[in-house]
Amino acid sequence: MKEIICSKCNVPLESKKAKFGYLGLVFDAEVPRCPVCGQVYLSEKMVLEKIAKVETTVEDK
Ligand SMILES: [Zn+2]
Repeated sequence: MKEIICSKCNVPLESKKAKFGYLGLVFDAEVPRCPVCGQVYLSEKMVLEKIAKVETTVEDK
């Protein structure tokens, strides 16, 4: 994975398991997170991929 640098602290982000919510859905995902300020970096692409996966799971029920 490409290294992402926190624009605030100028340190590389660490990949951490984190929960995040989007449009009322909660995801459990490994996301790049700044070890200094705790800023989580979410790319729009990743969020959309997660949503697509969740929607598929719901439809399968
Ligand atoms: Zn930071």
